[in-house]
This record gives sequence, C-alpha cells and structure tokens, in this order.
Amino acid sequence: MKTHCPYCAFQCGMRVEARPDGALEVRADEDFPVNRGQMCIKGFTSGELLAHPARLQTPLLRGRLGQLVPASWDAALDFVAERLVALRERHGAAALGAFGSGALTNEKAYWLGKFVRLALKSPNVDYNGRYCMSSAAAGQNKAFGLDRGLPFPVEDIGRAEVLVLWGGNPADTMPPLMQWVSQQKERGGKLVVVDPRRTETARLADVHLQPTPGTDLALASGLLALAIAAGRVDDAYIEARTEGWPALRRHLLLTDPAHVERATGVSRDDLERVVRLVADAGSAMLLSGRGPEQQSKGSDTVLALINFMLALGKVGKPASGYGCLTGQGNGQGGREHGQKADQLPGYGLIEDAADRARVARVWGVDPAELPGKGKSAYELLDALGPEGGVRALLVFGSNVAVASPHALHVERRLASLDLCVVADAFENETSAHAHAVLPVAQWAEETGTMTNLEGRVILRERLREAPAGTRTDLEIIRELASRLGAGAYFPSSAPEDVFRELGAATAGARADYSGITYDKIRAHKGVFWPCPSADHPGTPRLFAERFAHADGKARFHVVRDRPSAETPDAEYPLFFTTGRYREHYNSGAQTRRVPQLVDARPEPRLQIHPRLAATLGAEDGGRVVVESRRASVAFTVALSPEIRPDTLFAPFHWGGKQAANALTIPALDPVSRMPEFKVCAVRARVVPQPPLEVAA
Ligand code: SF4
Repeated sequence: MKTHCPYCAFQCGMRVEARPDGALEVRADEDFPVNRGQMCIKGFTSGELLAHPARLQTPLLRGRLGQLVPASWDAALDFVAERLVALRERHGAAALGAFGSGALTNEKAYWLGKFVRLALKSPNVDYNGRYCMSSAAAGQNKAFGLDRGLPFPVEDIGRAEVLVLWGGNPADTMPPLMQWVSQQKERGGKLVVVDPRRTETARLADVHLQPTPGTDLALASGLLALAIAAGRVDDAYIEARTEGWPALRRHLLLTDPAHVERATGVSRDDLERVVRLVADAGSAMLLSGRGPEQQSKGSDTVLALINFMLALGKVGKPASGYGCLTGQGNGQGGREHGQKADQLPGYGLIEDAADRARVARVWGVDPAELPGKGKSAYELLDALGPEGGVRALLVFGSNVAVASPHALHVERRLASLDLCVVADAFENETSAHAHAVLPVAQWAEETGTMTNLEGRVILRERLREAPAGTRTDLEIIRELASRLGAGAYFPSSAPEDVFRELGAATAGARADYSGITYDKIRAHKGVFWPCPSADHPGTPRLFAERFAHADGKARFHVVRDRPSAETPDAEYPLFFTTGRYREHYNSGAQTRRVPQLVDARPEPRLQIHPRLAATLGAEDGGRVVVESRRASVAFTVALSPEIRPDTLFAPFHWGGKQAANALTIPALDPVSRMPEFKVCAVRARVVPQPPLEVAA
C-alpha cells in the first residue's frame, strides 16, 4: 500500500507492507515526485509506534486519588460533555477552548474549528502551527495576497541558479529535500545559507552568512539597500508587477551599510556578494525557515525578505521567488481550514462578512451565530484557569507543555484548568495535567488528506485496523457534538464525507479545494490548490502572471528594524536559540518512544563554541546550567566551533527538566502572534561535579 509519512511537511511518499509478525515494513516510494525514493530515519521508523507497548488503548479519567484510571468510552465522553456544559453555564462559552495541531488532517482541522464554533459556541480555537508558520503566512498574505508555503513544486528548487536558504536546516529537518539542493548545485547553481550556526546545510554553501541572532530583518533590508545603491533593482518588473516601491526606496536610502555590518556581524563584502549573486542570476529563489520567522518581528522580517526578492524582479518567474519551508506535516492545510482563531475554512477570515456568509451557508446556520476572533495559541494558553478565564481546554494532537515558550508557565496554567482533555495516541507532558485522556487512531489506521509544503493535497490511506479501544478524532468530535446537542452539524465521521463538506465550504475561497476528490488525488499523486472545479487540474505554480491582490500586483512594505524583545545584557550576556535534531520531531511525544531514535539522540545537548566554553570552564560532555529570566535548565555540553561564540543552542524536543522551551520568551509578533523562540538572553555556569569517591 502507498501512503505518506506521519511527520513533517515534506510528506514523503511511502510503500508499506505488513510483515509476517504483523509489524509494518516502511520503504520510501520511488514514484512519489516529492521525495523520489528518499526518506529520513523518522519516516523509516514510523511503523514502530503503531504497536508500541505504551500506546493508549482505553480512555482514562482522573480518579479521586489523582491518578488516571481506565474508563469506558461512554463514561469518558459523558464526563467531558457534562463538564463542558456545566462550565459554559457557569462561566460563558468563551470559557471553553480547543487547541489543535499541524499534525491533524484537513478533515480534522476543519471539523475542530466547526466544533468549537457550533458545538462549544466559543471563539477560542487555535493550533500549534501558530508557533511554526504564522509569520511567513502573515508576510505572504500582505505582500502577495495569498499564503501558500511554496508557490511552486519542490522540483523547481533543482533549477534555480541561485538558492538562498535563510534560517532553515533541511539537511537535518527534511533530509530528502536536499536531493533538490544537490541537483541545483550539480547544475552549477550557487547556494547561500543564512544561519547563526554552521549546520549540515550551511556546510554545503558557497556563501554562509552567520548573523547575530535576531538581526535577520536588518540583514534583509541591508541587502536591498545595497542593491539599490548598486543600481541592481529591476525597475521594469517593479513598475509592471508591484505597488509601494517609492516609499520603501525612500526609507532604505537612509540605511547605512556600516550600521548593517555592525548590527548583523556580516561583512559588507559578503553582503555585496550575495546581492550580486541574486541580482545577476537568471533564476533565484529564497526559502525561509523558522530562523527569521520565530521572532517577535517575524512577519516584518518575512516582508523584508519578500521586498528583496520582489525588487530584484525574481518573484513569479521560473524557478524563482520567495517561499517558506513549512515544518509540520499539515502545517499548510492546518492553517487553511478553520482551526486558527482568526480564520474560517478556505483561508477565510472570521471577521470578513463574505467569508462568514459563505461558511455559514454550508453549515446551515445564520452568520450571526458564528463567534468572532479568539485568542492566539500562546495567549489562549496564558489565559487558562480562573485568572485568565478559559476554564476548559480540549487538546488534539499537540503537546503544548513542551512545544510552547515559557513552558513551565504553560504547565502551571494547564494545572489550573477545571477541565483539561487530551486526545492522543500516547500519554505526554500535556496529558499529565488532563482530567480525561482519549486514545486515538494513528496515521496508518485512518484515511485523510494533508497539504504538503508545496500546497499539494495528498491522501494518507488507511492501512490497518486501529486497536479496538481507540477512536478517530473525527469520531470523538462527532460523539461530543452529539452530547452537546449539535450532532446535526456532524452527520458522518467518514473522512471522505467530511472532505466533501470541506470542499463545499471552500468553494470560491482563497484556498479553494472544491474541485479536489480522493480519487483525483489518487490518480494524480496529489492536487495543488486552488482547484475550483472537477475539471480543473490544480495550480502547481502561483504568481506567474498576477498576484492575488485585487489589482494583480504585489505589495512592498516599509518595515523598520527593532531589537528583539530580549537581548544580552550584563546580567544575561548570551543569546539562546532553539532548533531540531534529525532524529526527533517537534515535542518528541512520538519520536522519544522509538528506540532507534532515542539511541541515536538520547538527550538534548547544549551546543557551545570552544572559546565560550573556555571562559566558563566547560568541557565536552560536562554539565552546564543555562538560566534565563524564566527558568534554569541543565544540559550536557557539546563543544562545537560551528556556532557563534556569543550564542548557545539547544533542541526543544524534550520536556520537564530538559525543556529548552522553559527558557524561551513568550514575546509575540504583533501581527502573527508568533512567539520569539529563536532569541532570548541567558547566562551559563558549569555544574560543579561531585568529588570522586575514593575507596579507603
Ligand atoms: S519526517 Fe519528513 S523528511 Fe522525514 S520521512 Fe517523514 S516526511 Fe520525509
């Protein structure tokens, strides 16, 4: 059987066979045009979670003594529904909320948003994609009038004469993507990597810029200022395809290259080299990762990157333009179908009258019945409990206690809830605070669509029966809706039925799926949205002739640099930044249970430059405590000359005492509400080793 990987947004095609012992043998699908026969270690080992001994197979309810005890499905669902009704009567509908995930299929994301609005009648639904994609989405919506992570298929990467990978490390996070980077280089292309660390990806670069953390906006605007000074902008393109250039040009004329050098730590020679490379290339592509996006100025930084590529006339041309490397499996579809606090299905806006009317018509309700905008992901978590007013939270497929900034604060908020419900396949750091845990089917046990980083809608096929004690998220939503008196809005939990309804709800919208069917996906190895009718082939490439604003033109935006929310000072003199290991995925809730992955990466290591380590007295393999204004975390040291000497790095896949996110700051971007995971200020000290005991 063919299906797709349960993890990242590359959504590698897989071939899966049942072994005689019942386990699944997973191989990469050579025919799927995105990964073309490659996968990473996470995909190869993904079958191990299906029959894992720790797999939840019965609902759990918190007993009188505080422990989780098995319960029947009826008892668990009745308990949850009764508590929801009681809390709504006492505190109002906005006291109820739900937290979704970029791991949910399109069908689930769509139903979760509908459930919160029609069954809970609350505005409060958001998802962990707010932590990943929201700044790139905000920037693309403003500049292009549309957000689709990559506006072209990944195969175009292989044809770009110049490729700029800005703040992403796909060699570790998305290894099969590197085949397209290799192809690009084999054809004589140049690779520029921007990253404060010399990563696996950066080692392949012709030019590696290693800026000071938090200075991506200054760097991007500095590149454009130098392009203007050198007369390298594309005036004809600007005139024909854009709006807003005179104001941006005036603003950038004030930029002092010496200031850009000082602020970013990147030499003027390197800056000019990158400008020359991109400007002179027949095709040039800039792809951003979480580095420039996960900042409190992330959406402005994305706009600065887009300004640069627009001014050099690269966007909308073959193998050229700006794109963002979506991280989570369904980070793209997850933000299109209504599980985001400000959105409705089809990338509609909840405050837009036409979008409300379109969706309300399909749902069979009056538009006035739809609640307004809810709280964004971190703001929702920060509002949990009596103080914040959100008394009940349903969590679907997200481990917020590990994945959120200021993680210990989030744990305290979760612990103060009157009702915390977690629907997941395994217990995790979030379910430790749950009053009810609902065991769900996993990827290979249910059918559903995902939208990959290219905007290609693909189908994950059901390969085997789910364990008897589990249910699908769709079944859980339907059962709860029925107990809340809203069952009529959720008539069938069959994924294909839900997808048909999703298609109808998106007809005529920006992310139009109305012409996509399961059979069409099967026949064409995925269908790119927008796809507005049954005979439409889908849209692999966007912006070749027009952008999505009403006049067809892209928009320049004047963006002003500003410091990160927290920068090093006398008390906390170092930068701290977070990222990923190849072997683990997001909060590690799944990958920390796969022996092969745990053996390869058993713990988070603190990456420290040897010069900094020498000043601290730290040694490779020793222990160092990192302290921010929010928490202290002890890590094992990994000395590395490949990080800046003023910066510490740790991966965020672990929770509890190993949680890198205990240190991070919940400063939010004013537009996207993305937290600043990539920059905060810390100090570090060596943990004294206990003296060796010597036998007398
Ligand atoms: S985690 Fe991503 S890159 Fe790795 S196999 Fe899965 S989809 Fe492919």
